Amino acid sequence: MSAPLRVAVVGSGPAGFYASDALLRSDDPPVAVDLLDRLPTPWGLVRLGVAPDHENIKAVSRAFEKTAARPGFRFFGNVDVGKVVSHAELLERYDAVVYTVGAQTDRRLDVPGEDLVGSWPATAFVAWYNGHPDFQDLAFDLTGERAVVVGNGNVAIDCARMLALTPEELASTDTVPAAERAIIESGIREIVILGRRGPVQAAFTPPELQELGELAGCDVVVDPQDLELDPASADALEHDRERARRNMELLREFAAREPKGLPRRIVLRFLVSPVEIAGNGRVEGVEVVRNELAAESGRLVARPTGMRETIPCGIVLRSVGYRGVELPGVPFDDAAGVMPNDGGRVIGAERTYCAGWIKRGPSGVIGTNKKDATETVEALLADARAGSLGAPGGGDLGALLSERGAFFVEYDGWQAIDMVERSAGEPLGRPRVKVTGWNELLETGRSVQSSS
Ligand SMILES: Cc1cc2nc3c(=O)[nH]c(=O)nc-3n(C[C@H](O)[C@H](O)[C@H](O)COP(=O)(O)OP(=O)(O)OC[C@H]3O[C@@H](n4cnc5c(N)ncnc54)[C@H](O)[C@@H]3O)c2cc1C
Repeated sequence: MSAPLRVAVVGSGPAGFYASDALLRSDDPPVAVDLLDRLPTPWGLVRLGVAPDHENIKAVSRAFEKTAARPGFRFFGNVDVGKVVSHAELLERYDAVVYTVGAQTDRRLDVPGEDLVGSWPATAFVAWYNGHPDFQDLAFDLTGERAVVVGNGNVAIDCARMLALTPEELASTDTVPAAERAIIESGIREIVILGRRGPVQAAFTPPELQELGELAGCDVVVDPQDLELDPASADALEHDRERARRNMELLREFAAREPKGLPRRIVLRFLVSPVEIAGNGRVEGVEVVRNELAAESGRLVARPTGMRETIPCGIVLRSVGYRGVELPGVPFDDAAGVMPNDGGRVIGAERTYCAGWIKRGPSGVIGTNKKDATETVEALLADARAGSLGAPGGGDLGALLSERGAFFVEYDGWQAIDMVERSAGEPLGRPRVKVTGWNELLETGRSVQSSS
């Protein structure tokens, strides 16, 4: 049998695992995969993005474990491509490189006051409560009575819901202890979610919206006036097959509710945009402008009216989207925040491919990355069969890293971390207690190698 094609997949989130799986299933040609990640732990946003109270969604990691058990799979954690090893060095060692690095930063609002103390990107808040080792030193001040979450997607809803969970709801999650304590002790009584456009245009999905109405310690409040639709939105709703229609049903049901007087409330507001984050040295409020919708190039966009108001608050979480980051030596479309590509083939780079959020931008659910990664792998395998791949034979990545003294965490090192976390969680009735410090992660990941 011919030697397998050697492929490096960079980024071990859903797109990386789905790409690896599709590659390892190929027998024409057979493929060996090295899956690299800058973190010592795999699973990308499934571990560090998906909300801790959505344990059933995190269970997709079981499918990733099956992929990791396939012959020909190796994991290289703690390998930051672009820093520890370059794109060119990967191309010397692999027949092809697939980038699945996700969208590593946040989009900005571009309003005055955005960088005031107390104004945070949702990316940081999410990474903090989920135990991302780069974000554990952040101090989120949750003592104010009101929080404002800017954005109308599922991440905005996650942030609002996390702030509203009761001690009992948090007790069965793997929220990191510091975040759990801060949420339980927080002075926040009201969380206002701001949508730039109307309820019909909101990006959140019905199950996530519905959950807001089922929280044990939190009322959900919608002003019925916010649900009065302009003719274009009413028409769009008529033709919507599912999401907007179901969202509107839920919002109307919330608007008709009498608040139960629960300790916290989430208020959903529409057609308002922040024009300034105000405060003397730290966040004291958000000045918003009332918008109206206008048709522009076939879509409804928000246009500011002259009506303004200030919403006093102690913290602002900006959740207006994630954004891809350029990797040295790999083409990047700065305007779109993705690698320019044709069906997953990176344009302008030989033997280089991409999948997931770095390919199509930050949208879709975990499963969307499967179809996306499969398309990329089909392109790669077609190129292999056409004879256009082939590494110059630069040797093994492990040898290069060892030469450099760059320690990497192999799959059994991750399994050791996983075991430590699950064992710590078990007596507490939690899925795991995450290891969150770089040193502890690397030491736990290393202990397997030194004992084997
Ligand atoms: C807060 C949040 C909550 C979400 N909740 C849900 C949900 O409940 N249900 C759902 O279906 N979807 C959810 N999603 C969407 C889902 O997480 C994404 O669709 C999916 O994770 C995107 O996969 P990806 O592999 O492209 O990127 P990621 O999951 O981000 O994985 C990218 C990986 O690349 C690594 N990496 C980055 N740069 C480098 C580098 N230079 N070198 C090496 N490695 C690198 C990162 O460490 C990371 O592990 C959520 C997303 C967010 C942000």
